[in-house]
Amino acid sequence: MLSENEPLLRFVAFAAVLAALAGWEVFAPRRRREMPRAWRWPGNLGVVVIDTLLVRLLFPTAVVGLAVLGEERNWGLFQVLAWPAWVTVPLAFLAMDLAIYLQHVMFHAVPALWRLHRMHHADQDIDVTTGIRFHPIEILLSFGIKLGVVAALGPPAVSVLIFEIALNATSMFNHSNIALPLWLDRLLRWIVVTPDMHRVHHSILIRETNSNFGFNLPWWDRLFGTYRDQPKAGHEAMTIGIEQFREPGEQRLDRMLTQPFREDDRSYPLGRGNSS
Ligand SMILES: [Zn+2]
Ligand SMILES: [Zn+2]
Repeated sequence: MLSENEPLLRFVAFAAVLAALAGWEVFAPRRRREMPRAWRWPGNLGVVVIDTLLVRLLFPTAVVGLAVLGEERNWGLFQVLAWPAWVTVPLAFLAMDLAIYLQHVMFHAVPALWRLHRMHHADQDIDVTTGIRFHPIEILLSFGIKLGVVAALGPPAVSVLIFEIALNATSMFNHSNIALPLWLDRLLRWIVVTPDMHRVHHSILIRETNSNFGFNLPWWDRLFGTYRDQPKAGHEAMTIGIEQFREPGEQRLDRMLTQPFREDDRSYPLGRGNSS
């Protein structure tokens, strides 16, 4: 029942959050746009369509489907432990969020993975569509990792469903170009990654890119010392993107798809021994 309704549930949540945030960006934007939306949105939305089709075609089951199967057959740590649901549902959510944080750090640290992930960072504005702009190979790899995490952890299926919907929504939220009152941002930052917090990660300055890896819960960055409060130049004046791929044509779908295979990894931000 849960896994049958998952695609529809996820799509409705996705479309509603996307429309609400896109509308909010029009009425209360945080930053002035560097580029018209018409240059970026076809590519950003086009890549989501490709990502979704590829995952559906190549993977026989959704993540929630695997969790349902795991519950039936007692696969994974949480199934073996058999703790009560009020413990395992939030604990599994936390564990999956930590896995996503660690995966994000890994996509910055390994040069071949950075080539894939830098397409997300090559967006020269940051708005709600940046939150769903990921290279198809990165999406396939992270989907495989997520299946592995679910198989090993054996989380309750309801926890996985909540996590999937939350991650999708928070990713769009924390990339959105919406102005929140500063006091609200400070308050929200204790429970969720806010747009001002994640925007620091999209700075062209390497030391700022190397911070705020969290997508959903903000605690991992504080715990592992990767938290950075604000961008040095301020949110309005900071430059978004990476040094490579700054031609406007790079925001075209075909150029975005070939970015991992072009140029070198000189803008590789983690582990270069360069803190500039
Ligand atoms: Zn990143
Ligand atoms: Zn991002």
